[in-house]
Amino acid sequence: MKKYKKISIPKDGEKITVDNGKLNIPDNPILGFIEGDGIGQDIWPASKIVFDAAVKKAYKGKRKIAWMELFAGDKAVSVYGKNKWLPQETLDAIEEYVVAIKGPLTTPIGGGIRSLNVTLRQKLDLFACIRPVKYYTGVPSPMKRPQLLDVTIFRENTEDVYAGVEFKAGQKETEKLIKYINKMIPGKIRKNSGIGIKPMSEFCTSRLVSKAIQYAIDKKIDNVTLVHKGNIMKFTEGSFKEWGYKVAKKEYRDFIVTEDELWSDYNGKMPKDKILIKDRIADSIFQQLLLRPNEYSILATSNLNGDYLSDAAAAQVGGLGLAPGANIGYHTALFEATHGTAPKYAGMDKVNPGSVILSGVMMFDYIGWNKVSKIIESALKKTIKAKTVTYDLARQMKGAKKMKTSQFAKAIVKNM
Ligand code: NAP
Repeated sequence: MKKYKKISIPKDGEKITVDNGKLNIPDNPILGFIEGDGIGQDIWPASKIVFDAAVKKAYKGKRKIAWMELFAGDKAVSVYGKNKWLPQETLDAIEEYVVAIKGPLTTPIGGGIRSLNVTLRQKLDLFACIRPVKYYTGVPSPMKRPQLLDVTIFRENTEDVYAGVEFKAGQKETEKLIKYINKMIPGKIRKNSGIGIKPMSEFCTSRLVSKAIQYAIDKKIDNVTLVHKGNIMKFTEGSFKEWGYKVAKKEYRDFIVTEDELWSDYNGKMPKDKILIKDRIADSIFQQLLLRPNEYSILATSNLNGDYLSDAAAAQVGGLGLAPGANIGYHTALFEATHGTAPKYAGMDKVNPGSVILSGVMMFDYIGWNKVSKIIESALKKTIKAKTVTYDLARQMKGAKKMKTSQFAKAIVKNM
């Protein structure tokens, strides 16, 4: 066991371990949490009340979570000192204790860190960003039938244009690079351009697509769509599609049918208990999710496409206030609110804790405590249906009763 300077390891908890690729969950697992900046101080305590109450309801004291506070963002600076936004021991503890949940974090200005979230994902190699998007009855939505959308997006988290390989226009090395490229492909790049590099590899694509297919198998979901822009960017996005099909056929042959095979071998009739692997061009999938949302269950996407797509899909079911997320590597998993720190509301006990609460639902599913996730989800549904909601939903709902963050959490607990 590692020694930590500022992290207190709960004495009443046990560590989650990984054996032969499987998680070992004790009855009193230690789960890390990062409260988060800004509204983190409001939404984390509210979420924790809901989590603890649901565990108690589900297991009557036989199981209990031992929460372990980890520090990142402003709170880390107050605990560890100047510029220590993301202490190494926070990363070490997430890795050692396998599962953690976090509130939103401010993006520090200066200090050499682009984004704490991106750094966390890269340092811990949390290569899949997973975002389930579905509709909860009563949530105001711009769609006529928002309930038709029920999709989980698996977004590659480590490469693509987000890899951070960029060259500023006008700088010496940028001009050198432009010259080098123009030597290979004459006249391709204009002088004084800024340059970004878009690396995409078979290794990273395959592990992401594998995770998406494995999820479909585990959850008995019958379709996975590879989303790409391969018609234009053939050697990055196009390869994403090819590598995706390749790993599907190689690793999951007995479980899957590709869309081509569906027509060539099965006359268009889906065989029972198989997963259909299809692909769609990125721009087309935005239309498809609006026009025929019920034809898509899991989307495996590259980094940039997934970023756009997950927010657009969340908008269809009422916005980011209720959008959960997780960043998962081979085993290490960090569950998180998908919205930011909304600093103007910090400490006002006002905002919606739904995004962290639903990230918790994903977390309980991940550790196999499905009874807990079901209790939370159904109580949340009941609370929204009763129109007892926070300001963001109340302002768009007729006849709603506006609740504070803490009141909303208590209402959820009451509805369990
Ligand atoms: P934001 O914090 O997401 O807030 C934008 C607006 O979204 C808020 O003003 C509010 O809208 C609404 N909102 C956000 N969370 C809400 C909640 N829980 N309940 C109800 N409404 C909510 O975005 P931002 O202002 O662009 O970013 C602020 C900081 O957060 C930045 O430092 C940014 O880098 C960081 N950030 C962190 C994460 C993360 O940690 N995962 C993600 C995104 C941004 P109304 O004012 O209309 O009510």
